[in-house]
Amino acid sequence: MTDNGSGSGLAAVAFDIDGVFKYGREWSPDGYSALQRLAAANIPHVFVTNGGGGLTEKSYASGFAAKVTGAASNASDPAPLMSDENMILSYSPWKRALGAELANRRVLLVGDPYDKVTQVAESYGLRRAVHYQDYARRHSTLNPFRQAKEDGGSHTAVDNKTTGAMGSAQRSQQPPAADADDTDPFAAAISEYDPSAAGGARAERFYMVGDNPASDIEGVRRANIFHKAKGNDTAWKGVLVKTGVYKDGDETNGATTVVAGVAEAVDWILACEREHAK
Ligand SMILES: [Mg+2]
Repeated sequence: MTDNGSGSGLAAVAFDIDGVFKYGREWSPDGYSALQRLAAANIPHVFVTNGGGGLTEKSYASGFAAKVTGAASNASDPAPLMSDENMILSYSPWKRALGAELANRRVLLVGDPYDKVTQVAESYGLRRAVHYQDYARRHSTLNPFRQAKEDGGSHTAVDNKTTGAMGSAQRSQQPPAADADDTDPFAAAISEYDPSAAGGARAERFYMVGDNPASDIEGVRRANIFHKAKGNDTAWKGVLVKTGVYKDGDETNGATTVVAGVAEAVDWILACEREHAK
């Protein structure tokens, strides 16, 4: 295996969830021990999913930890493998990128279910968020949301104090434009969770473990194009597993390696790191 220009910084891993820890409705019996091996090697990791089910990172993490632990045959150590800090759900970037900016602004929540979505907004510090169902009830003649109209229940917005002002101007707010050329969202997300960082050391060798060449490995490919253009030492390696979307013979989109599943993925990463330490 080749060292693709990475330096002496730390390693970190991003894991996809579906197709890696979970295959359809089945949970991998190998996920728990794979994560324990990674933790023993002091390699920080995050979990990335384009879902989230409207749960807060904290509740997603505890449900996920229970499933991974429950599927393991030898889970004796109840050490938390996941927390809100290393769980990146589809909407988590809102917290970091927009939470502060929108904390005191009017925000219309358009997701469902109501209770979960308003809880997430609250956990992100959005104090004046209004759910579309509340907005629709308040403005029944403007209501384009049939479900809200039929649901006669009375919900409370995230902050009760906001309901009186709901008729005020709802100017459309453009989110602050992220400079797409200046951020590696993968690296930015993962570097936030860096418990092993001592003395300010930062991760610069990243591994992505995923089952989908078109998304997981594409992220790796783009991150590497980004860092190469910037002249950074940061490098990503794509570890493609066969337990999900990818099947033998498919195009790998330049994955660094293809392995059977999550156990082999972690073993491969640990071998790379041992090689690097030589
Ligand atoms: Mg997947």
